[in-house]
Amino acid sequence: MTTTARTEGLGTDDAVSEGDGLRTGCRGIPSLSARLEPWMRELLADPTACAALLEEHGSPLNVHDFGALTRNADELTAVADSEGVALRIFVARKANKTLGLVRAAHAAGLGLDVGSHRELSQVLDLGVPADDVVVTAAIKPAPLLRLALDSGAMLVLDNLDEAAAVYAEIAREPLDPPRPVALRLAPTPSDVVGPTRFGESASSWQSWAGSREGSRDGLQIQGIHFHLHGYDPLARAHALGEALGLVDALRSSGHPASFIDIGGGIPMSYLDDAEQWAAFWEAHDHQSDDPTDSLTWRGEPLRQVYPYHQQVVRGQWLRTLLGAEVQPGVRAADALQERELELRCEPGRSMLDGCGMTLARTVQRTTTSDGIPLIGLEMNRTQCRSTSEDFLVDPILVRTGGEASAPVDAFLVGAYCIEAELILRRRLRFPGGVAIGDVVALPNTAGYLMHILESASHQIPLASNVVRGPGGIRRDRIDAVPPQRPWTDAAGD
Ligand SMILES: *Cc1c(COP(=O)(O)O)cnc(C)c1O
Repeated sequence: MTTTARTEGLGTDDAVSEGDGLRTGCRGIPSLSARLEPWMRELLADPTACAALLEEHGSPLNVHDFGALTRNADELTAVADSEGVALRIFVARKANKTLGLVRAAHAAGLGLDVGSHRELSQVLDLGVPADDVVVTAAIKPAPLLRLALDSGAMLVLDNLDEAAAVYAEIAREPLDPPRPVALRLAPTPSDVVGPTRFGESASSWQSWAGSREGSRDGLQIQGIHFHLHGYDPLARAHALGEALGLVDALRSSGHPASFIDIGGGIPMSYLDDAEQWAAFWEAHDHQSDDPTDSLTWRGEPLRQVYPYHQQVVRGQWLRTLLGAEVQPGVRAADALQERELELRCEPGRSMLDGCGMTLARTVQRTTTSDGIPLIGLEMNRTQCRSTSEDFLVDPILVRTGGEASAPVDAFLVGAYCIEAELILRRRLRFPGGVAIGDVVALPNTAGYLMHILESASHQIPLASNVVRGPGGIRRDRIDAVPPQRPWTDAAGD
């Protein structure tokens, strides 16, 4: 098979033979082979351990190992160092719900970016100093503003109404010393930078700040923040240029702005093989529309998907950004250095690269009334989903079940009573068949895939989460039921 031949061209012999062994049970049509961390290989090569985990914690199960977090962060830090730029990383908590992530980030000397009251109170309760926390929530109810102000965490003001709400809070309970805030910049839309719902224009913030005198009103403007959709480093360089202009204006009117925070969107790659990625799209664009033969579910094309293979990720991406011009002839790195500005970022997905995997149990093998083979998993499609239309990474089949079916090309379906309840929207090949009780592993799901859209419909509990560490595998995030507001009589009517 050509796909196998291509795979054999990569990596060491050891890695290939091990990888091939793991991949023989299931592959996409055509293959999209996940990059696997050593801890994933070790677990997947141990069917007894996989089955025991599902037996103990239920299916599906999110398994984490945050060992890769430090490596991912170091990649950024090394590039910033080499460019003479001071960098602080705040891991975006929303990309993964486990408390293990908070602990691991803190232990690695990284900060946390939080997006809600609970995210904030959890990181503070775990002992993360407020100085290592940035609050970027899109909507900030009064209790969140209050907690942010009381704690002294960096509060990113999104808009003028929010700023007014902060003053309402301060009026209720004055603050001393002044609390740190950053202003969320909505860069001017252009060919390079898309439009955004977040933030205010530089001129709005400038006139807002102009009406205040330094920090006498309880707030101190310490930085500028932006977070752009997409992954384009040049769009960030462009926005950075605008943020630098705003910093200069703020400084000249007495505000001690000392950092620019470029938000998240730092890319990662799930697949090592560029040719596989290209071959997949070639096949996708020329697929059959016969539902019993199509590559995607009933031949429906995939439109909005994450670039699961990318050449320029993390360190190299930051190098591109820092080397880009923010003004004619001025590199981003030099503009930051010249002003002694700290660069901050809030990566989520790219920090969680290699940190998690989802395991699910095979329950049944069925066929649609028009002949499409299905494999039913004890999980639902919200448990491996992001805003991307599909997770374009091949699962790994771990043989832990009984007698296997005949070889089959099938779709994975889940527990919600919906026709198109697809775990993945691609047809998968199982050359050795599938058995009830086999484990299907979805690799590298820690960034968003396992958590951001998960729901507990049909009263099916959310997945359990476990974290591998020096002391073995431990259960995390005990609140398997989604948090609820306190019950009141009125709610019962
Ligand atoms: C979602 C988000 C991030 C993280 O984005 P990634 O794409 O995971 O890096 C960072 N900052 C803000 C404000 C966000 O909304």
